[in-house]
Amino acid sequence: MSALLELNDVVVRFGVRGGLFRDAGSIDAVSGVSLTIDEGKTYGIVGESGSGKTTLARAVAGLHHASAGSIRYRGQELRDLPEAQFRKLRREIVMMFQDPIGSLSPRLSIKSLITEPFRIQGMKDRDLDAEARRLLAMVGLPPEFAARYPYQISGGQARRVGVARALALDPKLLIADEPTAGLDVSIQGEMLNLLGRLQDELGLAIMIITHNLNVVRHITDRVGIMYLGKLVEEGDTDTVFATPQHPYTLALLAANPEPDPDAQLMRIELQGEPPSILRRPKGCEFHTRCPFAQASCSSQMPDWQVGDAGAHRCHFPAVWTNHKAVPA
Ligand code: SF4
Repeated sequence: MSALLELNDVVVRFGVRGGLFRDAGSIDAVSGVSLTIDEGKTYGIVGESGSGKTTLARAVAGLHHASAGSIRYRGQELRDLPEAQFRKLRREIVMMFQDPIGSLSPRLSIKSLITEPFRIQGMKDRDLDAEARRLLAMVGLPPEFAARYPYQISGGQARRVGVARALALDPKLLIADEPTAGLDVSIQGEMLNLLGRLQDELGLAIMIITHNLNVVRHITDRVGIMYLGKLVEEGDTDTVFATPQHPYTLALLAANPEPDPDAQLMRIELQGEPPSILRRPKGCEFHTRCPFAQASCSSQMPDWQVGDAGAHRCHFPAVWTNHKAVPA
């Protein structure tokens, strides 16, 4: 399986000034992220709100500029690619946004929304009808939906329309930002089944941004866990869920309301809220909340350590295996 997308030490930096941010100058919303997505595979990015996962996805889709590092797609560096060349690749890397109805113009019919790329190319109306029917069928919607408007469809149907819009561009990498957020559990399952089916049929690679660990467990091949803009762990999904190396991963898995029944994981609770990205803690940035923190953790930043099954950023990986009781 060959690499479709390779990120190496990617940084997304925003200038900030005024109000609360008067003295900040800039913040790294994404900081030193490295990962690889293979062709036809699904990669999940997990983290709390503000962890930088959507910013990372937007940088991959070209909607944010990566300030440093490398973003290679099919071996080609995307950072600083001239706009004309990047526009061609934009068809292959498509992002589905989090707000399904809000991302659809209320003044356009579903047919107009999903066939826009063909209309721009000058396709005739009769052929646009056929394309609309084809795309709607691919996402499991009947042809009469072509005549409807976004305010006439449900949230789940709007997500399917969002997928149909993306498919019109014949993408190779689909970035789905919280594809199941706000949907009933049964509709969530349908959405995941749809993505899985399309992946099988079209050979799509999918990057899923989510805070839902069950989505990750059921649909992804690999997973990356983000905290304060950095990956703290990444690897094969089954391995990470069965034997997490970083305490933050363990805490997320422990907090999952539907834990993996086969995984025998210690239950830990984190203290407090994540620190502000404006005031990153020294040393390991997780040490203010880590129940296993030791003296060196507050002064020495752990390196990104890459092994056979994955990578992590912790001085004492899987440290809880030495603990019998749940840390206070
Ligand atoms: Fe916890 Fe220390 Fe590992 Fe950071 S380096 S996650 S503080 S054990």
